[in-house]
Amino acid sequence: MPPRRKPVIRSHPNPYQRAHTSTVLTSHGGRLPVPTEIRHYLQPQPPKKRPAESPSDAPPRPQKRPKVFQGASVIMSDLKPHFDEIISAMLTRECHPKPDALCRCGASANTRCTECWESPFYCASCIVEQHRNLPFHWVEQWNGRFFERKGLAVLGLVIGLRHHGHLCTQAPSDNATTKFTVVHTNGIHDVTVAYCHCAPRTKPTDQLLLAGLFPGTFKQPASAFTFAVLREHHIHSLQSKKAAYDYFEALRCLTDNVLPNSVKDRYREFLRTTRVWAYLKAFKRSGQYYNIDKLLPSTWPPGSLAVHCPSCPEDGFNMAPNWRNTPPDKRHIHTTWNNGDGNHGLQRKGGKIDDPDDVELWDGNGYFVNTPKYEAFLKTVPDSEEKSTCVNLKAVNMQNKSKFRNCVVTGVVAVICARHALFRPCGMVDMQKGEKYAHMDYALASVLRQQAPLLWIMFLYDIACQFWINLLKRFKASFPRQVSTARTLRYGVGKLHVQGHTEDCMYRHSLNYMECCGRTHGEAVETCWAEGNQAGASTREMNAGHRHDALDDFHGDWNWHKVQKMSVAIYEKFVMAQEDFKKKDDYFAALTESMPPDAVEKWRLLSTEPKWDGEQWASVYRMKQLKGPSQGDAYKSLCQREQELKKQSSFQSLHANFLDSGLRIQAGQRRLKRKIADGGDSPSPRILDDIERCRERLFKDLSQFREYQDQELPQLRDHLTQISIDEVENITLQLPSDFSATDRSHLGLHDLGKYEYDLREGKAYDAIRHLREALKENFISVQFKKKNVRGQKDSTRSHTVLKKMKEDVHQCAQKYRQARAALVSLGLDTISSKLQPLHDRECYLRDVTQKRRLGAEEVVEPWFWTLEDITKDGEPLSEWSLNVDSVRWFRARADRDRYQEELEILPEELNRVNRHHSRMSSIWAQLARKSTHTGAMAYAFKKAAMYERLAIEAQSYICNIEVPKKQPAVINDD
Ligand SMILES: [Zn+2]
Ligand SMILES: [Zn+2]
Ligand SMILES: [Zn+2]
Ligand SMILES: [Zn+2]
Ligand SMILES: [Zn+2]
Repeated sequence: MPPRRKPVIRSHPNPYQRAHTSTVLTSHGGRLPVPTEIRHYLQPQPPKKRPAESPSDAPPRPQKRPKVFQGASVIMSDLKPHFDEIISAMLTRECHPKPDALCRCGASANTRCTECWESPFYCASCIVEQHRNLPFHWVEQWNGRFFERKGLAVLGLVIGLRHHGHLCTQAPSDNATTKFTVVHTNGIHDVTVAYCHCAPRTKPTDQLLLAGLFPGTFKQPASAFTFAVLREHHIHSLQSKKAAYDYFEALRCLTDNVLPNSVKDRYREFLRTTRVWAYLKAFKRSGQYYNIDKLLPSTWPPGSLAVHCPSCPEDGFNMAPNWRNTPPDKRHIHTTWNNGDGNHGLQRKGGKIDDPDDVELWDGNGYFVNTPKYEAFLKTVPDSEEKSTCVNLKAVNMQNKSKFRNCVVTGVVAVICARHALFRPCGMVDMQKGEKYAHMDYALASVLRQQAPLLWIMFLYDIACQFWINLLKRFKASFPRQVSTARTLRYGVGKLHVQGHTEDCMYRHSLNYMECCGRTHGEAVETCWAEGNQAGASTREMNAGHRHDALDDFHGDWNWHKVQKMSVAIYEKFVMAQEDFKKKDDYFAALTESMPPDAVEKWRLLSTEPKWDGEQWASVYRMKQLKGPSQGDAYKSLCQREQELKKQSSFQSLHANFLDSGLRIQAGQRRLKRKIADGGDSPSPRILDDIERCRERLFKDLSQFREYQDQELPQLRDHLTQISIDEVENITLQLPSDFSATDRSHLGLHDLGKYEYDLREGKAYDAIRHLREALKENFISVQFKKKNVRGQKDSTRSHTVLKKMKEDVHQCAQKYRQARAALVSLGLDTISSKLQPLHDRECYLRDVTQKRRLGAEEVVEPWFWTLEDITKDGEPLSEWSLNVDSVRWFRARADRDRYQEELEILPEELNRVNRHHSRMSSIWAQLARKSTHTGAMAYAFKKAAMYERLAIEAQSYICNIEVPKKQPAVINDD
């Protein structure tokens, strides 16, 4: 016997093990870490805490139960004891409880319905009568031993059309019935249909359609699909991207799970019908049946079936009437944001599968452009591509050609709205052999045609830095009418992709540094692909037209879901941005305070526009070339400062001298302790010697200090301990801070305590200032080493210098801590004081030489960087130190400004949503009133009501931006 394999148990993913950084699959297959700001868009946000509602009118919210994560084993062991009862109930239902019971008509009650709720038992003819309006129920008949499944038609049901299920009395004879196959959500039924013959006679196919049956063919139909099954399949395919084939096979299993192949195969008709169904749904919803175009902006593509973004600016439709008067520095409020990207997940294989007669129902009226025109354009562009000057541009240069094998279409290029992630109507094209500028040119030109009246258009593309260089030249050749619009474009690279570009690109195209960009991250398109690519498997094998139809349908569904959640999404972004802005603003204000005012004044006047300086793109956000200081210089200045520190203490009064010498002794004790620690367990004779000398010097100083105490502060005599030379570093000096507040007042040390406080406070600020300088020096030296130090000898020397600098940082921190500890003892208000505890992990300087790391703007620097009143008057900051500061200052300001802009953009976005929906509501009402078709009128009114609901929802967020109204209800747009 073969050894039994252990069953593989797939455990639940452990919720506690979730990685903290999610990743996005880029269109080129690489994985990149996602900055926090982008994660907001990728992951559903946990519901925000709502401000408390007034208790009087609001029903109490149900308390959310804390989530308990139970393992499958726990749940299963709870259920296991019940398995017997469940099986028993299932088996009980297999048997007729009273086989000899009689129907109300007197016949044997041997038939029941499996779909009616707790169906009673009837005879066959009574159950048929019961199901005149439920003709697709499965019934089963007791044959004396078990139940046999029967179709109602076998028991005699004839489905009458146009008479609420009953038969038409005008039928010419009994044989006016037709055998039919109906595909419904619960399986495939063989039924008998009786058409209506009343005058005026309705066509058989119309009779079927009016009954909610979609005929498989329109010439003498013999099969039909219920609208219910078409709707269910449509929604399932949009949601799970399940292939029609699998869905249909499941229907056959539902019909006969023993020999499913014996069930009639209507897959081909089904495939055809579902495709038409999806198209007609879009047609119905778009309003094209009513010629809606004449009521829509003339720039919209005519005949469009696409779902438009309600929040993106549309001149004369959803924009504020006076938007053209907006000053340039507020232009972000009325900017439209396009995000272009190529995606290789949506390919199409060629070869045998191609059907030369294939058509495209959407025909360029959805998200794909018009295919024949596009193909004609591609023939006009040269095959050679421009050379890239920016490194690492995978999209153009590093495509892995092998993944395109057997593909006629290697993917798609699309332009979407960058802030709301909706596909732009007519903004998608197929790619052949990798992403080329020509593909994006066409998609972009198609979108710009619709945006011509706008003044401010932004285009974000992961290779924008290259793409735009010759864009106008290419447009002049191929799209002369869009040249003027293209001329006004601003370019940016998404915050994720810009990390892969050169530094020059970073400072020119990063959305963090460009003005009037808000918090747009420019990576929204990736979220679209993540979802859309699930359709890749099922559309890869389709014919060209069918594939476009399917993808247009998927993208329309994606857009609609975005519209549904638009208001609440914008509102939540606003709430979050408000909180973040506060933090950034506080930080920036504090940082400005801590900087020399005259420098800040100069900085304020500088332009943030990047400039070419002959070698590279210079920017206020970029560290200047690190010319100096060299390590030698830094070291020299370090030594100089130490000398000054030693000289510094010349206090006039005796007490001051006394306190000062006390403080110096403490510093000596600190140094000695350090030396002893550094020496380790077996210090060298040289170090031992050094320690001994220190001890002696300290002993001498301490003895003098004690003498002075004995004379001038006799009240302390009882508290003074004997000094031993072996423990000289651990002696408590009995300065005022060594006593409690009560003892100080008992011993009359109050005034001296105050004096010590001032002294210590000065020391604390000194220590922080030195710490900051030391950190900057340390930082600059590390940079210097990275760039310039080569070879063993240099390396060892620089290592020694760096070690010394690190030690210096440590000493500064220790000095500060000692001063602060004394201040606390002397009554420092630990809550309100600016002098906060200093932790080792805080002793760093944010790296300003680098391009900004992902998510770096989320990090607020340690508190001591913003401590104000600390720059010593008259001490000129060296040039490099000032450069470090200015880059920090500019970056902090840019962070704050982007949030500020975001807070200005979001409310107007919400306003546009409201205007769009209100406008659409009145347009549909207008269409309704003009309709002559009563059904069309009713549907148009329904649409008007739907848009009104959406508008009201948007308004509730606008006027009550603090307290949100209810969650948006699910809108059922049929
Ligand atoms: Zn039933
Ligand atoms: Zn009966
Ligand atoms: Zn009739
Ligand atoms: Zn939008
Ligand atoms: Zn670049």
